Amino acid sequence: MKLHFLGANRQVTGSRYCLEVAGRRVMIDCGMFQERSYQPRNWDPPMLPPESIAAMLLTHVHIDHCGLIPRWVHLGFKSPIYATEPSVALSDIMLRDAAEIQEEDIGYKLKRHKREGRKSPFPYEPLFSVADVDQCKPLFRPVKYGQAIQVTPEITARFFDAGHILGSAMIQIDATENGQTKRIVFSGDIGQVNKPIVNDPSLLDSADFIVMESTYGDRNHQHPGDTETQLADAINETIGRGGNVVIPTFAVERAQELVYHLGRLLRASRIPQIPIFLDSPMATDVTDVYLQFHDYCDEALLKMVKDQQAPFVYPNLKYVRTAEASKQINFAPPSNVIMASSGMCNAGRIKHHLKNNIEKPEATILFVGHQGEGTLGRQIVDGAKRVRIYGQDFQVRAKISQIYGFSGHADHDGLMTWITHFQKSMATTAAHTARSIQRVFMTHGEEAVALKLAAEINATLGLPTYVPHYRETVDL
Ligand SMILES: [Zn+2]
Repeated sequence: MKLHFLGANRQVTGSRYCLEVAGRRVMIDCGMFQERSYQPRNWDPPMLPPESIAAMLLTHVHIDHCGLIPRWVHLGFKSPIYATEPSVALSDIMLRDAAEIQEEDIGYKLKRHKREGRKSPFPYEPLFSVADVDQCKPLFRPVKYGQAIQVTPEITARFFDAGHILGSAMIQIDATENGQTKRIVFSGDIGQVNKPIVNDPSLLDSADFIVMESTYGDRNHQHPGDTETQLADAINETIGRGGNVVIPTFAVERAQELVYHLGRLLRASRIPQIPIFLDSPMATDVTDVYLQFHDYCDEALLKMVKDQQAPFVYPNLKYVRTAEASKQINFAPPSNVIMASSGMCNAGRIKHHLKNNIEKPEATILFVGHQGEGTLGRQIVDGAKRVRIYGQDFQVRAKISQIYGFSGHADHDGLMTWITHFQKSMATTAAHTARSIQRVFMTHGEEAVALKLAAEINATLGLPTYVPHYRETVDL
């Protein structure tokens, strides 16, 4: 059998793998390349014909794992896509949003290039359209954690909770060729332990081959501390100055996490009863999916639901869908908590709220997520004194704060715990003695980080490791 590496190789985004067993091909993830320097790869003609793929398995709905599904459907893929129940519901929201952003971006790009007399090396068309997203919907097959899925006659797959976002999964595949069965585990994105809403990441027991993410392979999260207390402090301090707290947030997981923490702070009277706005139609739709599939959440959240303390609904909290209601927030007397996307401030309603608050010394702009290179959010956290928003100059006078503990990814120690568990359980369980880890492939990490983690796993656990290249094929 063969494994083709089609993305997230020596860089972070664009997760995409294809396993070939007895001549049949199954893809694991179909993500979009998001780093500016790797985006041209989204246009590469597929290395394997999309119509030759027998099925797709999706670990979770972040765009760097699912964002090219409509592109592949556009190019001829029409086989089943297996994903957990929440992932199926969330994927439609995510892909529709991605298609709309693409269509808008092309419009802007055309105008800009015309003005500057430039020509793009890529076609002036979106990677996919909303119509392509419509074609994806009937292909999805919802699955539950632990359920054995006969993907092809040779391949059985099981999804396990990855604890990263709602419905996120690690995928364990048992593949049989020439009478020999091999177990291949795809880690997906491994979550952080002790996070609210989601469970801790699953620890799996055995594998012959492991494809493992390495995003934070070289470092531990800084100042994780008590995020809820930090959130309360930032809000109370800002109320003391008479300003608003503006929080750029991602629509999936981070927004729900904030809503969850704010609800707890209000109930415990750790912050006063001020209005809280989640100004994002997409985050609102995503929260509906969280409510629908709350049985996928952790015990603490299930207990809240049982005790009728709706974790995502409380009197002070307003979900804002329409543009009109969004504009009205400007007229709400301070103090308010205003959450809006995008999380890196490069698009969306957050830009309006920044315009209205960034020049006010009494306001706080509170960052709760990583700010990518080249984004407006990055400029602000890096201490820019002036920023441009919608073609206008603004002085940064608001207080700029950051809370670091919100990462949805395991850090270095978390990744080591996850990989070490395989070896421990295989060493102690008689049933697994026939199996031994033949190779760990490090992916989904910057090159230096993936290489460093590969070397460490090899040195400390004695496991053979390898960092594959883009479009490399290995024999398993
Ligand atoms: Zn992810």
